[in-house]
Amino acid sequence: MKIPFVDLKRQYLSIKEEIDRCISDVLLSSSFIGGVQVKTFEHNFAGYLGVKHCIGVANGTDALFIAMKALGIGKGDEVITVANSFFATSEAISMTGADVVYVDCDKDYYTIDVSLIEKKITKKTKAIIPVHLYGQPAEMDMIRDIAARNGLHVIGDAAQAHGARYRNQNVGTLGDAVCFSFFPGKNLGAYGDAGAIVTNDDDLARQARMFANHGRIDKYNHEFEGMNSRLDGIQAAILTVKLKYLDEWTARRRAIANRYTKELADVVTVPKVQQDVFHVYHLFVIRLQNRETVVQYLADKGVSTGIHYPIPLPFLKAYVQVGYGREDFPAAYENSNQILSLPIHGSMQDDEVDFVIETLKTATSVK
Ligand SMILES: *Cc1c(COP(=O)(O)O)cnc(C)c1O
Repeated sequence: MKIPFVDLKRQYLSIKEEIDRCISDVLLSSSFIGGVQVKTFEHNFAGYLGVKHCIGVANGTDALFIAMKALGIGKGDEVITVANSFFATSEAISMTGADVVYVDCDKDYYTIDVSLIEKKITKKTKAIIPVHLYGQPAEMDMIRDIAARNGLHVIGDAAQAHGARYRNQNVGTLGDAVCFSFFPGKNLGAYGDAGAIVTNDDDLARQARMFANHGRIDKYNHEFEGMNSRLDGIQAAILTVKLKYLDEWTARRRAIANRYTKELADVVTVPKVQQDVFHVYHLFVIRLQNRETVVQYLADKGVSTGIHYPIPLPFLKAYVQVGYGREDFPAAYENSNQILSLPIHGSMQDDEVDFVIETLKTATSVK
C-alpha cells in the first residue's frame, strides 16, 4: 500500500465536474482579477467565519504582511510570535521592518506558551501573532487579556486552522485581524497561491484592501503606496466550490484523528487537545524518541510522513546573526527532535488509516 501525505488529486476527482465548470465560467466571464467570483468568495468566507469583512489577497504571507501594514506596524516596532511555526509568520513581521520577538511554545499543545508572553513585552511591542498551529487554536482568552492590558493588537495566523473554534468562537473572529492561507495543501486550498485577511473593523478592512491594491481608491487615484497582492478569479471560484465541502472534510480529518489517538496512545505521544476547542487537524503530530528509525520503517512500507517543523524559527540560518541558543526556546527545541506528522486528509480511506496505525505499531516495536 502507498499512503501519500496528502492526496490533492483524489480530492479533485471527487469534485471534478464542479471545479472544471467553475474554471470555465471564469474564463468565459474574463474576470481574471477581482470581479464577481472574488466578491462571491469573500462574501461566502466572511459568512462562514461570522466576520464582517474578508479581503482576498495573493497568499497567506501577504495576508500577514498587509494586516500589519494596515495596523501601522513597521520599523522600530516589535511583534511577538511563537518560536515554532512556518517561516512565513516571522518573515512577514520582518518584511514590515519590525523586529520579531519569539516566545517558546507549550510543550504539549505546540501553540504559544501564554505564561511567557508578558516577559517579552517592551515599550516597542505593537502586536502579538498567535499561530493556531496544526489546526488547534492558541489560548486566545489569555492572549486577548494580555493584549488588552498592554494595548497590543492581536493578528491571528489561521493558515492551518480554517473552521477551528475556540470556546465556540471561530478563530476567524479572534483578533483585530485574522489571516488565512489557501495554499493547495491547507485545509481549504486553492489550485495555486491564495490568501485572505478577515476582520470586523471597517477602517482596518478599508486600509488592508487599499494596501493590497496599490493604495488606490479608484483606478488611477492612489492615496498611498501599497503593493499588488490580489486574489484572482479562478482561485476564488475554486475556493467557493471547495468551501461547501470544508466542514465535511474537517469532520473526516477529526474522525481519522480520533482513530489515531485511540489506537496510538500506547505507543507514541498523541496530540493533546485544549478544553473546549474544535481542532481541525491540519496536521496530526505525534512525538516519539527513535524518530529516524520509525520514519525509515514507515517509508519502506509506503507510508509518507512529514516534520513540521524540523528547525524552530529562531534557530534557522536566516536568524543566526541574532545568536539564539537552545536554552532560549527549550520546548520548541526538544519537540523539533521528536515530532512527526502522520498522513491525514479529507479523502483518506479507512483501510489507509488502518494501515498507518498497524505499520506505526510495528515500527515502534522493532528497535
Ligand atoms: C502556510 C502558512 C503561512 C503562509 O501561507 P502562504 O499562503 O504559503 O504564503 C503562514 N503561516 C502558517 C502557520 C502557515 O502554515
